[in-house]
Amino acid sequence: MRKPIIAGNWKMHYTVKEAVKVANELKGLVKDAEADVVICAPYIQLPALVEELKGTNVKVGAQNMHFEEKGAFTGEIAPSMLTDLGVEYVIIGHSERRQYFNETDETVNMKLKAAYRHGLKPILCVGESLEQREADTTKDVITNQINKAFLDVEADHAQDTVIAYEPIWAIGTGKTATSEQANETIGQIRDMISTLYGAGVASKVRIQYGGSVKPNTIKEQMAMSDIDGALVGGASLLAEDFSKIVKF
Ligand code: PEP
Repeated sequence: MRKPIIAGNWKMHYTVKEAVKVANELKGLVKDAEADVVICAPYIQLPALVEELKGTNVKVGAQNMHFEEKGAFTGEIAPSMLTDLGVEYVIIGHSERRQYFNETDETVNMKLKAAYRHGLKPILCVGESLEQREADTTKDVITNQINKAFLDVEADHAQDTVIAYEPIWAIGTGKTATSEQANETIGQIRDMISTLYGAGVASKVRIQYGGSVKPNTIKEQMAMSDIDGALVGGASLLAEDFSKIVKF
């Protein structure tokens, strides 16, 4: 049985004060949640969020990091800077990073390996564009993303990676993939993991759906055979909405 995992991605929202207020509200609302709960916030909020959420079931994640240990990389954050704070998760390869910040399958692979080296739990994002879905190349696109992301990654690390299937056309657009569409692609991702690592690893790896998940979509999505959770953008910004998703 795979434990569901619901993660919020706050993207570039909130001041530190605002973030702490939402976290404070959220921790009370989700304290009995059966799913793992994660908030992925802007770097500057992380120390305050770790402090606010200490001793609760809400874990803190970053939205990105560099793959190097340290050095002349102005504006970047190293993995050890995150673990030093008590950050447990990190989103790797979000489509917005791939689209606007030159994130490639190669840097995604390097960042995944850096996360494993430091004991950070990665949430690896994959997904196709609208053009790719319409051209019927979704499976090829995602096979390529998965194969490159997991290049030279050992099975025990792969098994502990959370994968988020996020069709780019469904992110922030209000267009959700149907539960069947999401489940079909997530099933294909599980098959890809099986091809790389065997059925045992594939049966354990948790795969989320992401793309305009809302309180009124989550129940049906979580009822699908292969969907193990959600990566939630817009609807994670308010504690009440997000808590409804967490407690689907
Ligand atoms: C996301 O940020 O990963 C996301 C899925 O956003 P939204 O839920 O707003 O579509």
